[in-house]
Amino acid sequence: MYKFLLFLSSFIFLYSCSNSNNTEINIPLTSEAESLAEHSKEFEKKVLSYDTPGGMIHFAIGFGIANSIMVEGENGNIIIDAADSVYEAENIYALFREKNKNPIKAIIYTHNHGDHTFGAAYYLQSQKEKPQIIAHEDTDYYVQRIMGILNPVITSRSTKMFGTLLPEEDVINVGIGPNLSVSKSPTGYVKPDTTFSDSLNLNIEGIELELYHAPGETNDQIFIWLPKHKALMPGDNIYKTFPNLYTIRGTSHRDVKGWVDSIDHMKTFEPEYLFPSHTKPILGKDTIQDAMNIYRDAIQYIHDQTIRLMNQGLYPDEIADAIKLPKEIAESPYLYEFYGTVRWSVKSIFNGYLGWFSGNPSELDPLSRKEKALRISELAGGNDILLKELLLAVQEKDMQWALELSDYLISLDMFTDEVKDLRIEALIYEGSRSSNPNKRNYFLTSAFELKGGIKETSLLDRTSEDLLHQISINTLFDVLSTRYNPESELINNYKVCFSFLSGKTKNITLRNKVAVISNNAEDNCDLKIISEEVEFKKTLTGLSNPVTQIASGELIVNGSATEFLNFLTKFR
Ligand SMILES: [Zn+2]
Repeated sequence: MYKFLLFLSSFIFLYSCSNSNNTEINIPLTSEAESLAEHSKEFEKKVLSYDTPGGMIHFAIGFGIANSIMVEGENGNIIIDAADSVYEAENIYALFREKNKNPIKAIIYTHNHGDHTFGAAYYLQSQKEKPQIIAHEDTDYYVQRIMGILNPVITSRSTKMFGTLLPEEDVINVGIGPNLSVSKSPTGYVKPDTTFSDSLNLNIEGIELELYHAPGETNDQIFIWLPKHKALMPGDNIYKTFPNLYTIRGTSHRDVKGWVDSIDHMKTFEPEYLFPSHTKPILGKDTIQDAMNIYRDAIQYIHDQTIRLMNQGLYPDEIADAIKLPKEIAESPYLYEFYGTVRWSVKSIFNGYLGWFSGNPSELDPLSRKEKALRISELAGGNDILLKELLLAVQEKDMQWALELSDYLISLDMFTDEVKDLRIEALIYEGSRSSNPNKRNYFLTSAFELKGGIKETSLLDRTSEDLLHQISINTLFDVLSTRYNPESELINNYKVCFSFLSGKTKNITLRNKVAVISNNAEDNCDLKIISEEVEFKKTLTGLSNPVTQIASGELIVNGSATEFLNFLTKFR
């Protein structure tokens, strides 16, 4: 493969665990691991069927991360959330078909996350007529962002958080499902064709549906109310663990206050069936009201108390130490920290309102990591003493301190085999003693990574030509500008113009060390490229070799082809 750019490199290259002897790690079985294993009962793999007053609803749980729901209509059915992969969608639909063979007329995404959208392509392949795809109007924007400029970092952090690189036996579960299956098939996202802003009423095959915008776990979150069925699908705004008010794979601020309001809105319908997109359904009007009350109260408590302490001038770490769930609700099974945690949520709420600056003047422009390490080492009496302290910390199982001491030694270029082994020991100890799977998987994966047990390998190509049609050309040009290497030498104001057969024009001007993208048709171009949009998408994603594309006429270069190939190398 001609590797000029590989924008979606993480779509193309996955990693695998090497199980050779020297990289084997024994993960101890701890009481925390046992309680996490007990939680796996929340998503045992099966299809559950409910005979509601409005008709049959089938609920697939335990396939990858997210649940998939099928509502039966007169001559066709609706799918709510399309699973995390084409692989799981196929497994689920095989069982749904045993319940009812009518065609799938519509797919509704509750929000943009891949575990709810990446299986949709399966339904396009398996149905004679393309199902209608329904979502909030912002859903596609967020998918494009995750598949575009943020893809490498989100993929890398997600694989750590979900433990997708760990040996299978070391992943107990991922908190809201057994495991993430996205790597088992090409990404099957399909753009919505029916979108709405605040609410939308539909009747599909006799199924009455009310869709409402419900910001919470994501800004594009919706819930679905089926009045005849007395059933509500809340998406990810409620599931049976403490909510992920912040996700460690990385997210912009989640609208915590809006989340509370969204649950209050859901409560007003007084559902008798609640079908969440993760963990089991909740049945019975009173049980549902109780669960929603506990959930919204916990979120409001964390939100309000964080703000109260922020206004008293406390710093984020101090607030995180100070806030605990009140004992009245702390023991609720809806609030065990199997996914989100109170501590991470507090810091995210602080950051969402005030940004990264704690307010402490000494933290505005702190010493660099390296400078601080030098001073600490001096204070301790030298690097050897730091190393001794690290050894001692590991012996005494003071593992967070051990991790921080190893940070100093790494900054001091003292990342010897001994330091590495001690850091691995600390990561395994802390990771295996967390009942939070996100922390556990992140720490254990980091340990395997240091041990060299995770190797890059071209396991499976997850970018298909079908997917390229779902990624907009604008997304890829946004990616281009963020991949521009400012070290590259090229004449200032060098301009490359793209004229796509769709009629769209794009051009890139390299100027003042930035790649300026514009949509104007330009005349004074140094190079002009003519092609189908999809051909250039293939170039950018590494699916096609531009040398071959130029030779075959799939990319037409008006100007020097060598210069164009050289231009592409500037975007690494
Ligand atoms: Zn989800």
